[in-house]
Amino acid sequence: MNIKAVPPHITDAEWEVMRVVWANKHVTSKEVILILESKMNWKQTTVKTLLGRLVEKGVLDTEQDGRKYIYKTKFEEMVFIKDYANNLFQRICKKDIGHVIEDIIKEQTLSFNDIKKIEETLMNKKELAISEVDCQCISGQCECSLHQHGEKPKSAG
Ligand SMILES: [Zn+2]
Repeated sequence: MNIKAVPPHITDAEWEVMRVVWANKHVTSKEVILILESKMNWKQTTVKTLLGRLVEKGVLDTEQDGRKYIYKTKFEEMVFIKDYANNLFQRICKKDIGHVIEDIIKEQTLSFNDIKKIEETLMNKKELAISEVDCQCISGQCECSLHQHGEKPKSAG
C-alpha cells in the first residue's frame, strides 16, 4: 500500500466512493452503487465515472475478474484525513490554530477514551510548548501582521 505523504486531491463525490472502498477493502462498481444508492441517489454511470477518475488519479488500483472490475485503494484512509486537516491548518494564521483545535473539540461528541488520549497528547505537548506561536502569514493576510508594523524582527524562515 502506498504511504505517500501527499495524496492526490479528490472531490467530495470521490471521497464518498473512497469511504466505501476503505470500509470494504476491495469493491466492484455494483457494490459501490448498492451501498451509496440511498445516500447519494447516483446513477450507475456516475459511480463508474467516479471510479474511473480515482484510477486516473492513482488513488485506486483496478484488476479485471471475468466481466467485472475490482477496485482497491492505494492509500490508507488516514493519509487522506491527515492531508485534509493539514490543508485546513495551512489556511489559518499559526497563532489561531490552538483556538481552532479547541473549537473543534468543543463541537464534537467524544468518549471517555477519546478524552483520555487527547489529555495524554496535551500533557506531552505541554513539555514542548512555547510562550508564543509565531505568525507566519504575509502582511495583509491576517490581523496580527497589522499590529506588528515592524516592531518585531522578522522571524527566520
Ligand atoms: Zn498570522
